[in-house]
Amino acid sequence: MLTSNKEDYLKIIYEEGGFENPVTNKVIAEKLGVAPPSVSEMIVKLDKQGLITYEAYKGSQLTKAGLDACIELIRSHRLWEVFLTSHLGYSLRESHEYAHLLEHISDSLLIDRLNHYLEYPEVCPHGFVIPQKGQGPNKINNNHKKLSQVSPHDIVKIVRVFEDGALLDYLEQSGVEIGKTIEVVHVADYEGPITFNQDNREIVLSYKAATQVFVV
Ligand SMILES: [Zn+2]
Ligand SMILES: [Zn+2]
Repeated sequence: MLTSNKEDYLKIIYEEGGFENPVTNKVIAEKLGVAPPSVSEMIVKLDKQGLITYEAYKGSQLTKAGLDACIELIRSHRLWEVFLTSHLGYSLRESHEYAHLLEHISDSLLIDRLNHYLEYPEVCPHGFVIPQKGQGPNKINNNHKKLSQVSPHDIVKIVRVFEDGALLDYLEQSGVEIGKTIEVVHVADYEGPITFNQDNREIVLSYKAATQVFVV
């Protein structure tokens, strides 16, 4: 059994592309908000456990075992998010926060049963793909563009948003729904707000938020 702290390290390495390229200790320290010496200490442990391979001056790369552990964590996290929002009425922000706790205590059987119960959902409530068992890492879809890059009269579908607590609360308060098709009405000059129509309702979103919302 991995401790949650180790799992957080693995996930950061995964999110920074550590299944393909080495991730430096500096990046890990920044992302986790911890001091570089504690990163070095943990990296040595993870390397000993065979979850990563570490090379001085280059960084850490996930091994097959490390990658499998990451994918299982992500699967667990995103399935719990679906359960919390669709069955227990949690908000976008809360579901992400609780899933972060639940992902660490869920074994493979529980996750399989949850997946079956939810009828094998494809994406989490924030639009991220849920990896199925035995699947490799899913790379972020490059066809998605930012809502901040649209033009007036564009008709696009909101497919994914960053899992940032403040952003999620703001989107929910504004009535933005992931999965909806919207029509862009106005894009204000000089990185101003974006106005669009969603279900015959006009929604105005700040430029900052629009850079964290992805559409196709
Ligand atoms: Zn999440
Ligand atoms: Zn999510």
